[in-house]
Amino acid sequence: MTDAAVPASPAGQTLKIGWLYGTKMNIYGDRGNVLALAQRARWRGIQPEVVELGLGETIPDDVDIFFFGGGQDQEQVAVSRDLQGEKGQHLRQAVEAGAAMLSICGGYQLLGHEYRPHGATPLPGIGLFDITSEAGPERFIGNVVIESDEWGTLVGFENHSGLTHLGKTATPMGRVAVGRGNNGIDGTEGTRYKNALGCYLHGALLPKNPTLTDWLIEAGLRRRYGSASLAPLDCTFEARAQQTAISRARKTH
Ligand code: GLN
Repeated sequence: MTDAAVPASPAGQTLKIGWLYGTKMNIYGDRGNVLALAQRARWRGIQPEVVELGLGETIPDDVDIFFFGGGQDQEQVAVSRDLQGEKGQHLRQAVEAGAAMLSICGGYQLLGHEYRPHGATPLPGIGLFDITSEAGPERFIGNVVIESDEWGTLVGFENHSGLTHLGKTATPMGRVAVGRGNNGIDGTEGTRYKNALGCYLHGALLPKNPTLTDWLIEAGLRRRYGSASLAPLDCTFEARAQQTAISRARKTH
């Protein structure tokens, strides 16, 4: 689906970033992902527009990239309720139509079928991802390194009690090299459905994983313009930050 004619150069292009529940679901640096998406677009002359989509607010039709951060169990109660019905359906339709999505931890869990917190009522998700999560006996806290076929090595930070199990149709985002990931047992981390990604990688994730950031920006531009090619950027600092985080992760585990 293309929203607009393709301007001759990125200079004329725009990119709409929908930040889901930015005030309620924003922990362990998650906001940095929205900043990284917007800045790496700006460095190519693309004009980003960030819209916060909170409780009770409808989802506009022209969002190219959604970001959904993490949050503690008590925050997830209201968000889970708000996602039921039309809003959840709108998000599923947007992803079916090519919109990109990055969801982290608590947001990731609520894009699945259900999240069962400790000793509390199960929280329904929207079933975008074929995953189910329930709180486990211990909290997984620490640096994480994963290997992925699409984006290479990724590094982040996890802090969750939720254990996520992939359903028959779900594919993982990557394999855990350091850390616990989805459930600390099957070695998988995250999931991917079309251009929608979910994972346990806080940090923020994107500033030190530019390959993934650019992949999301390209997916968003393809949704809007039908095609996308990003000019390469100098990633010296990002690469140094990633390497430092990876070696720290290997040391701390
Ligand atoms: N409340 C969820 C859990 O503990 C998500 C936590 C988070 O977003 N970091 O698993």
